[in-house]
Amino acid sequence: MRDSIKLRIVNKLREGLRITLKSTLGLTGGAISGGKILGKSVSGRMDQMTRALGGGAAALSRLALDAALPARCLVSDELVGQSGQIAPAAWGRIQFIEKPICESCGAPLPFDVGAGAICGGCAAHTPVYDHARAVFVYDDASRAMILNYKHGGRMDGVAAYARWMARAGADILGESHFIAPVPLHYTRLVRRRFNQSAILAQRIGCLARLPVAVDLLKRDRRTPSQYGKNWRERHRNVAGVFSVRPRWRARVQGAGVVLVDDVLTTGATVEACAKALKSAGARAVFVLTLARVVAPGARA
Ligand SMILES: [Zn+2]
Repeated sequence: MRDSIKLRIVNKLREGLRITLKSTLGLTGGAISGGKILGKSVSGRMDQMTRALGGGAAALSRLALDAALPARCLVSDELVGQSGQIAPAAWGRIQFIEKPICESCGAPLPFDVGAGAICGGCAAHTPVYDHARAVFVYDDASRAMILNYKHGGRMDGVAAYARWMARAGADILGESHFIAPVPLHYTRLVRRRFNQSAILAQRIGCLARLPVAVDLLKRDRRTPSQYGKNWRERHRNVAGVFSVRPRWRARVQGAGVVLVDDVLTTGATVEACAKALKSAGARAVFVLTLARVVAPGARA
């Protein structure tokens, strides 16, 4: 094996170990700031289940595989020069969200009507969260990228995704005290082996120098998939599902919190999270996602 490949594998394993250790600690009760754990409490059931199914080992194996194989585009799978890159043709297909955007939900607006403008959807239904920001539109190109990460376990894009999210969410991160991922129910976590939002949250926390409360929220019951449901059904499906863990209640009082997720579809899940946080006394709740749906019929 060539030395350069060996070096890449070692570096990736080190990086993967850092990510998965943080993820495991966070998912089982830690909060991490700049690599330091701010608090400890162990949820035994989730800890045992996560370890039993080798979540960290799976992610590490995947990282080693990513490093050993030729670098591939995050979207199209074609060969690229470096890990974590997007091929030029695929890059041109990604619709990065630029201003003007809706001040509330962050959806792109067709023209600039001045500061504080909101979209028709937010005029009809004011979101529970304060502001949402996303990097790009959820479409065929970005869907491939997100599925490669979320379900394919490809970790080679995480650093770029976090950088883009930190940039897209600079204004909301500047008003926040800490970051938290949208939680998975533990049964789904066991099946998927990692929480894609928690890994992004940890990376963004390092970039924005904000603490990450990985276990801030818990999903009290497993809900059917949101796939195929309309706006009303999605909201009903997740209503009252989330709660703030008791040990975070004091810190949530008067705080600004950024919720991190991979995709904003109708906003039902993050609104349910925001409701739990505001009920617990949060001053402001923001949402930061990698992609967001902008289809006109999203709220049909
Ligand atoms: Zn809006």
